[in-house]
Amino acid sequence: MISRASKRLFSSSIPRLDTLVYLESSGAKINPAALSSVSAAIQIGEPVVGLTTSEEIESQASKIEGLSKIISVSGDQYKNKLAEELAPLFKDIIQSDSKFTHFIVPASAVGKSSLPRLGALLDVQPISDIVKVESNNTFVRPIYAGNALATVKSNDSIILASVRASAFAPAAAGEKQCEVEKYSGTISDSGNRTQFVSESLITSERPELGSAGKIVSGGRGLKNKETFEALIEPLATKLGAAIGASRAAVDSGFCDNSLQVGQTGKIVAPELYVAVGISGAIQHLAGMKDSKTIVAINKNPDEPIFNIADVGFVADLNEVVPELTSKL
Ligand SMILES: Cc1cc2nc3c(=O)[nH]c(=O)nc-3n(C[C@H](O)[C@H](O)[C@H](O)COP(=O)(O)OP(=O)(O)OC[C@H]3O[C@@H](n4cnc5c(N)ncnc54)[C@H](O)[C@@H]3O)c2cc1C
Repeated sequence: MISRASKRLFSSSIPRLDTLVYLESSGAKINPAALSSVSAAIQIGEPVVGLTTSEEIESQASKIEGLSKIISVSGDQYKNKLAEELAPLFKDIIQSDSKFTHFIVPASAVGKSSLPRLGALLDVQPISDIVKVESNNTFVRPIYAGNALATVKSNDSIILASVRASAFAPAAAGEKQCEVEKYSGTISDSGNRTQFVSESLITSERPELGSAGKIVSGGRGLKNKETFEALIEPLATKLGAAIGASRAAVDSGFCDNSLQVGQTGKIVAPELYVAVGISGAIQHLAGMKDSKTIVAINKNPDEPIFNIADVGFVADLNEVVPELTSKL
């Protein structure tokens, strides 16, 4: 149960009204990153209202702890979450009678593409990728690929922020349901000239990389796709882990690029991150250095991955990975 009094942080220079959080979803499921965004929003200050563009998740959404209300908008134009459709909708709702002062999205592909458009529509500077809430107008965000943290303060009358999911625990679901309000306010013509054509998703039985508690990641040291599959997959299966990869492994065709971890891939912070044949380039570390326990397997003891590893195997991965898998 969230203690509301303790979660509310103040040093307010703008009058606070309500915070609106976009509850991004895929099919009938609320994305874990949206639940982390709710936690960030609660820290900014309650009341927090959830916004969904999918009727399928209304009931689940209404049980998220800390939300005072759900605003639900229906319409085929929102089904594929095109930023060109979402940004004008967000603007209409923020400026509706509720007069929201804070609008929060997950720093997902949808959040990252819609927030700048919304910023332009409202003439407001969005704050991207926040990792900490200092007060209702001051936030911490990583810069220089995560090598430094900037504390930024906004004096805008409406604060727009995207949330790095790995920095906030997901909000829990409770038993009590809050009110679900069907949005009946203005919906302006979006003027959208972009059309959704198709989406091809890699489906996997494994946990989703962005929210997995354990990840086994492979790098160029695996040499080829066959070795990547023969060594990384059984170890990940034994651990019940998601599979990740370095950019070098992705670029060499060892696995799909949706598995890339790092500055230009997914940002993760699992309980356990096993880096196999990964040197630890700064751009890779930017995506996984906040993992709770890091295990590195690399034959070269001088590689930077060992600077952040909690457990290191200086060994040939072709020997140590099968041995580890069989012993687990
Ligand atoms: C703008 C930009 C963005 C980038 N974004 C990303 C990103 O998001 N994610 C990312 O990962 N990279 C990113 N990169 C690339 C990054 O700089 C590195 O090139 C990449 O991370 C290296 O991948 P690697 O560690 O798998 O390969 P390498 O650096 O080649 O390391 C391979 C490792 O395998 C070890 N090894 C080899 N054989 C064995 C063996 N038999 N047993 C044990 N160990 C062995 C070697 O000692 C070495 O440490 C980016 C680069 C740029 C410029």
